[in-house]
Amino acid sequence: MSDEVWLCDTTLRDGEQAPGVAFTYAEKEKIATCLASAGVTELEVGVPSAGPDELEAITKLVKLRLPTRMSTWNRAVPGDLEASFQTGVKAVGISIPVSDQHLQHKVNKSRAWVMEIMGECVSLAKKEGKYVSLGLEDASRADTDFLLEVAQEAELLGVDRIRFADTLGVLDPYGVYLRFSSIVQKVKIPFELHAHNDLGMATANAITAIRCGFKAVSVTVGGLGERAGNVPLEEVAVALKYILNRPAAFDIRRIKSVSSLVSMITRREIPRSKPIIGADVFTHTSSVHLDGIRKDIENYQSFPPESVSRKHKMVMGKYSGMKELNGLLKAEGVSMDEHQRLELLIRIRLLSSHKKTPLETSDILSMIKGSAKI
Ligand SMILES: [Zn+2]
Repeated sequence: MSDEVWLCDTTLRDGEQAPGVAFTYAEKEKIATCLASAGVTELEVGVPSAGPDELEAITKLVKLRLPTRMSTWNRAVPGDLEASFQTGVKAVGISIPVSDQHLQHKVNKSRAWVMEIMGECVSLAKKEGKYVSLGLEDASRADTDFLLEVAQEAELLGVDRIRFADTLGVLDPYGVYLRFSSIVQKVKIPFELHAHNDLGMATANAITAIRCGFKAVSVTVGGLGERAGNVPLEEVAVALKYILNRPAAFDIRRIKSVSSLVSMITRREIPRSKPIIGADVFTHTSSVHLDGIRKDIENYQSFPPESVSRKHKMVMGKYSGMKELNGLLKAEGVSMDEHQRLELLIRIRLLSSHKKTPLETSDILSMIKGSAKI
């Protein structure tokens, strides 16, 4: 297998499970087109058994023939798969709970049932010539010997990929390593981690999974998804490039447009400090950092913002000093005596604290012209 990591996007399926999120067909088409052209490996586009509208929307998406693999989500129920087949989709995900908690207290079934229903559903999908991703729900709380048994059986059945789901988001990176790495080494089919972010560790878990030999990770734009959400596409894509140095087909320059589109459609504002896509994440304000950046950008740059179609921004605020102000005045061709500069610096600090916002160059020029009041 090549070194490439597969980014399997589920914005249109798990993302739509976020509270208050519902996409119209036109919105689904826009998001799918945008993600496919940016290079995601797979698009999980929905649940055909959810009803006739969903089935029709998925059928229309499939007909677009976008340059990516489209898949659907299905319970391990033959009727769900039949609905998927009607859409013409090439890949199907089959989800089976595997923890004793879910087996005993959710579906009231045995471990033997898992093996039996998996055989039945995978054979059904394979007979239709589908690519099969086997989703093991609540794998993070399942018995690891049983997980291995299921994975080995899946390999014999011709499953194309196994998805381990950290359904509750309860794993930590070391837990991912302990729980899954030996299974991934023993079973020779691609593995995917589907991580949830309940404890803020989804991205770290996804990256650890890749380091442990997983081939794929589930992602959503901005981490949109059930409860605390999923692994944000943008975080994994950038970490793959700049930390793991691993290739992925996704073009990170498209992160900005993709995340803006999803934010607009879902009417969810992107938090200012959200990694990669937040308004403030390339903004520098403290005197020490600004000085360091002027000396060498590498002093305070983890990766170039231009690679994700963003720019560094230098602003002034409570912690800015005379050095920054002098630099700004010089760059703008404004001359002031020492007393005026000192007075301006005090006003900048006060106004920024009062407004609880950093001041951009245009704000400071307005202050100089006397158009801003403290
Ligand atoms: Zn999920």
